[in-house]
Parts: sequence; C-alpha cells; structure tokens
Amino acid sequence: MAEVKKVTLNTIVSLCKRRGFVFQSSEIYGGINSCWDMGPLGAELKRNLKDWWWFNMVKLRPEIEGLDSAILMSSRIWEASGHVECFQDPLVECLSCHRRFRVDDLANDKCPVCGNTELSEPRFFNLMFKTFIGPVENNENVIYLRPETAQGIYVNYQNVMVTMRQKIPFGIAQIGKAFRNEISPGNFIFRSREFEQMEMQYFIRPENADKWFEYWREQRWNWYKSIGIDENKLHWHKHSEDELAHYAKIAFDIEFDFPFGQKELEGIHNRGDYDLSRHIEFSGKNLEYTDRITNEKFIPYIIETSAGVDRPMLAVICDAYFEEPEIANPDKIRTVLKMHPRLSPIKVGVFPLVKKEGMPEIAKEIAQDLRKEFMVFYDEKDSIGRRYRRQDEAGTPFCVTVDGQTLKDRTVTIRERDTMVQVRVKIEEISGMISKYIESWIRDKGI
Ligand code: ATP
Repeated sequence: MAEVKKVTLNTIVSLCKRRGFVFQSSEIYGGINSCWDMGPLGAELKRNLKDWWWFNMVKLRPEIEGLDSAILMSSRIWEASGHVECFQDPLVECLSCHRRFRVDDLANDKCPVCGNTELSEPRFFNLMFKTFIGPVENNENVIYLRPETAQGIYVNYQNVMVTMRQKIPFGIAQIGKAFRNEISPGNFIFRSREFEQMEMQYFIRPENADKWFEYWREQRWNWYKSIGIDENKLHWHKHSEDELAHYAKIAFDIEFDFPFGQKELEGIHNRGDYDLSRHIEFSGKNLEYTDRITNEKFIPYIIETSAGVDRPMLAVICDAYFEEPEIANPDKIRTVLKMHPRLSPIKVGVFPLVKKEGMPEIAKEIAQDLRKEFMVFYDEKDSIGRRYRRQDEAGTPFCVTVDGQTLKDRTVTIRERDTMVQVRVKIEEISGMISKYIESWIRDKGI
C-alpha cells in the first residue's frame, strides 16, 4: 500500500497553485510574499464562505443589518479609535542578517533565520498603511488604509439604526478588505498585508454584556462547525491581561490547528463603550442611545465578532485535505479535498465518457442546464479517471458522466467525491439530488 505523507503547508501551497486557488501577487515580476491573488477556484471558495457568513449573520436575522462602508475614511477616525497611537507591534532587527521580526515571533530571543542572538532593542512600528488624499502630500492630507472594517460600522451606527428603525440589541455586519503593514507576513495567506474581514458589531445594554458575549461565542463556534471544520481542530484562546487590545475588556479567539501550529481564525471581543465614547469625544456628536420607553440615555456596549476570510479559507483547505490510498488500486494515492459541498468552488463536473457518438453534445446540454443552479465544470480531456482525480483535488462533490447507456435511456452515472460511489440516475434527477446532498452533508457519511 502506498504511504501517506504528513500534510505540510508546502503541500497545501502547491495544491492551491496547481488547482488555481491562490496565486502569488505580481508573480511575473518576482512576486511579493505579503499579498495574494485568488484564482478562479479561490475566488469561488471565498465567495461561498462570505455568502454563508452573510446568510447566517444578516439574511436570517431581523436584528442585524448589512453595511458596505468606504475603505478610505477621515483620519480623525483612526485617532479616535486609538489606532494612530496604539496599533503597533514591537519590532526587532537581527544585528547579523538585518531581517526584522515581531518580538512575539522570536523563539528563545534568537533570529529565526540565522539563529544569531544579537538583536536590536524593540521599537514600535505602526501597522497602518499611510498615504495622501488629493494631490498635495502634506500632514493635513494624510489618510490611512483601514486596518479593520469595524470603524466604518461605529461611525455609521446612528445612520443604520435610524434608517432601519432598529433598537437595542441590534447588530451591523460588514465584509471588506483591510490592510496591515505586518512586520512579518507569512504562512501563506494566514498573515498578509491585504486581506478580507467579516465583522459584526452588536450594540447592547451594558448590563447585558456578559450574556451577549457568551451568546456570540457559541454562535461563532457553531458557524465553524457548519462549514464542516473538524471540531477537534478548533480551540478557544482567552486573552490574558497583557494580550488584550487597547479597546477590549475581554476577548476570546477561535483557533485552528494549522500545519504550522494552533493559530487564530477569529476574535470575539467585548469592546465595552470604548469606541462610541471615543467617537463622541473626537467628533463632538451625541451618539448616545435613548430607550424609547423609559427615555433612559446611555452609550451602548459592543460585542464584536471579527473573522478574517482568508484564514478560514486556509483552514477549510487544510482541514479538507486528504491523501489516501485508492480503493481499487492501493499502491496509488489519491488527493482529495473533502470540504463541505456548500463551500466547494465547483459543485459538479460533467463529462462525456468518450468524445464521440453524441456524448459531448448531451454532456454539454446537461452542464448548461445545471449552470443555472450550480458552478459546473465541463471536461472532455484525458481519461475519465484523470478527470475524476482533478475534480477530487478541487473539492468537487459530484461528477456526472454521460456514457453509452445515456444514449439509450437518458440516465447518467453520478459519482460522489468522498466515497467514490457511483449511482445511475435520470438526467432530470441530478439537480434535486445535488441540492439535497449539499444540505445534509456530514463528513464521512457519504452518499
Ligand atoms: P494576529 O494576532 O494573528 O495578528 P489579530 O489579533 O491582530 O491577529 P484581529 O485584529 O482580531 O487579529 O483581526 C480579526 C481577524 O482578522 C483575525 O482573526 C484574522 O482572521 C484576520 N486577520 C488579521 N490580521 C490578518 C492578516 N495580516 N492577514 C490575514 N488575516 C488577518
């Protein structure tokens, strides 16, 4: 039987490149390692993740509204939020190879590249990207690329509440790009300088903060289960006093066992009234909440759920990656992404068994019909076995094959990715079968 190797980050990186999930940004110019481009399958997987988050956070919830605020905002916002003053990491330089690192990335006070122990004193480095708005490059025109999407929510909290007639408790959710000039980007798309976030801010009465904090911790944990991630690879990490961000009263991270260690996917924070109080102070606007019944005025507390998109995407790929001996031929290894079919970039591959006898025509017709509902990939190149393998590596849950029998009775074979079981169904039954399967999928359950 062929030997199954341990999955390393390199294995994942090469699969992502090979199958068109992720490309290095600016690759033909040598690339920059802190930014990544999503290829066709990556773009689709990311969209599916974001849609599922939006569906659960916004669409299913009457008390949460969506928002899409601008990336560029008044720089006063970043002064108020504390980012100009506090959003910094301690940086040290290796005095031998002159590479720079975040202090918390150092093991035993040694340079992780050359092992030298002579390091500079730490100095603080602000992670916000700075540029200028308009043609004049002076201090008044300094503007920042947002390092988090949350501030766009806080400064719109009254607009959203009033226009949507919401009252506390209510939330605002947004998905968008964020930028951080990380000192040591790395581990593929885990830490980059341009990434996406899915953030939700929940506005509550201060005395209910603990209750809502626990509620959102549970909701967010369950969301990771709903995308099929193995719960045994998920962990809670409670921030100690010295880890807490400047705005947080209490914070828990959901972490995942990546091939490079247990690392953060999402943070759930009780931000207290820090953000709204600071915006009241800096903008001079009254952002207090008035209870419509009692007329009581107060500054709401905020519970934040702050997830990346790229890290959950990497977690999904790592968790779904399996190399296993083929059932029919145990000397051969098949690589398969057993991801939740809800997230699979391609839902169904459609193939003619051979390129003759009218099979491609029927297969193309089926593919076009299924495209109204699913992402479909039509393929007639190479042997049928190789076509199945390519779709296994892409995480495609179903492959439909048109064969000689189809010409006689308009039935096709449909092969399931995880079990490789093939069944014969009528053409009109394919779509219903796929939809039902997506809804009920549980890993290792099979067809
Ligand atoms: P870390 O400690 O790993 O730097 P953080 O605590 O600074 O992360 P948050 O500020 O809580 O992260 O950001 C919320 C989420 O945004 C993170 O859980 C992560 O999923 C995502 N995120 C933050 N920084 C990056 C980055 N540089 N690249 C990719 N995703 C990121």
